[in-house]
Amino acid sequence: MTSLWTSADIAQATGGAASAPFAVSGVAFDSREVTGGDLFVAMKGEATDGHKFLDKAFAQGAAGAIVSEPVDHPHILVSDSAAALEALGRASRKRMGGKVIGVTGSVGKTGTKEALFQALDRAHPGEVHRSVKSYNNHVGVPLSLSRMARESAFGVFEMGMNHAGELAALTRQVRPHVAIVTAIAPAHIEFFGTEAAIAEAKAEIFEGLEPGGTAIIPYDSPHVALLYNKAERHAARILTFGTSPQADIHAREAVPAPGGGTLVTAKLPDAELCFTVAAPGDHWVSNALAVLAAVDAVGGDLAAVGLALAEMPGLPGRGERRTVSVSGGTALLIDESYNANPLSMAATIRQLGRETAERRLAVLGGMRELGSRSAELHSAIAPVLRDNGIDYVILVGAEMQPLADALDGVLPFAHVADTASAIPLIQHELRAGDALLVKGSNGIGLSRLVAALADGE
Ligand code: ATP
Ligand code: MG
Repeated sequence: MTSLWTSADIAQATGGAASAPFAVSGVAFDSREVTGGDLFVAMKGEATDGHKFLDKAFAQGAAGAIVSEPVDHPHILVSDSAAALEALGRASRKRMGGKVIGVTGSVGKTGTKEALFQALDRAHPGEVHRSVKSYNNHVGVPLSLSRMARESAFGVFEMGMNHAGELAALTRQVRPHVAIVTAIAPAHIEFFGTEAAIAEAKAEIFEGLEPGGTAIIPYDSPHVALLYNKAERHAARILTFGTSPQADIHAREAVPAPGGGTLVTAKLPDAELCFTVAAPGDHWVSNALAVLAAVDAVGGDLAAVGLALAEMPGLPGRGERRTVSVSGGTALLIDESYNANPLSMAATIRQLGRETAERRLAVLGGMRELGSRSAELHSAIAPVLRDNGIDYVILVGAEMQPLADALDGVLPFAHVADTASAIPLIQHELRAGDALLVKGSNGIGLSRLVAALADGE
């Protein structure tokens, strides 16, 4: 096993003191994730203290720890473990000689990050590092940085935020050569008030761009001017992507592909490319264009992007398509149970409208964190459902009351309090040949409904 960090490296990066020499091959702060050879970072959180899990981490094979209290295992003693992890992340970034891409946006970060990884990894197998899951905050980003091998040719990092100023701090750690804003939507708007304030906060990602760096921004966003102005202050080059022919990278054509997904002809500044995006929906075409822009910006292999997108299905909870057994046959289940905001809700309902099916059904859970605009943004889904030929809807959760009011007399629907009540209803309703979209904020727990329906697979 090649070593990622030695105790001497860690001590130097963090200013801590090593109790004994050791070397680690990975980094974790959640004891449940520790595997053989890892560095376990014991952090003091609001809910729990990582120092309580040291024995467990070492029982699982940890080779060393970062601690803020002396312990009986090999460790580096620091005054603040969170600051030490950040310092390790910065040291990791500093010693890496490859190209780094940072991804933010209100939606599509994980999808875009995964697609970028698949595309780059195809051309440079084993040389691309990426953040896993949605590890995109003040802990996830330094953790993901600290896990990056020194020899990586590329690093792809997801960066998220709930408050102004968070991305400014993260992007100075990641120091991307290329920074992408995927899309701006009223997610977490309760903390911001306006969408423009969200755009302003997302644009902080450009502050950390390396000299000569490229900013990639969504041309179709109503906030493109704001993003552009901010990007101009930090980027040597700006690439826009979108549906408009004025975007630097745009889809000249996007039509349903014979085997599912979308067949896209994309125009880049110096190339034209035809490829299939296996993951369904316009929103995935948009993410695909952002991926092309980023790979072009780092001088990567554009053909590999096409190949990767053609093979990348929807991710679990984020567009994964499953076939479920129902009496007399099967139905298509589109699993979007992982999260929802107004932009992604509309994008996935439009996609449902395009599915070939006997009937198009949707189980829609509330969208959280919309603050004072919640009622208005929920009721605004009614015309999207109507205009896309949706046959029947089950609404889940109290947030859905305004949509229930708006749907009255528009199309057949039921409104239930929680996921547990929705499960028998949809089991009763779903028939062979139907297409069903399941989407809502994670807190609604619609993944349980997906699991209940998939049981018979
Ligand atoms: P999180 O903030 O929870 O980490 P994320 O930004 O990483 O979210 P993804 O997990 O990639 O977002 O996608 C979440 C959902 O958003 C998808 O299931 C899909 O419904 C929708 N989505 C993805 N990309 C876009 C896009 N470009 N525009 C609109 N909706 C999108
Ligand atoms: Mg994510």
